[in-house]
Amino acid sequence: MSESSFEPIEEKLYWNRYLVDAGRPHIRVRRHLSPSASLRALTKICPANCYSFDDAGQVKVVTDGCLECGTCRVLCEATGEIDWNYPRGGFGILFKFG
Ligand code: SF4
Repeated sequence: MSESSFEPIEEKLYWNRYLVDAGRPHIRVRRHLSPSASLRALTKICPANCYSFDDAGQVKVVTDGCLECGTCRVLCEATGEIDWNYPRGGFGILFKFG
């Protein structure tokens, strides 16, 4: 298989569908004065780009498009900075593989 046959990740993610549970995000960032290195890292490693910094330098999460991969759950388990749950039934990611 040649390298050119690989689809970019953005094109693969395009096939997925996501049903937003408005007003009920399944992941929340707890209040923090300054984010730990683990929490800051989520702004770079979340594959769905759900984490970002707000104007005050705090980390925020928008769960629309979350792949439910659990990376943020594992990374911040020790710091306790996020609350992580699966979306309610019928909401969240619907994987399609083209
Ligand atoms: S579960 Fe994965 S995709 Fe969802 S917010 Fe966490 S790191 Fe991002």
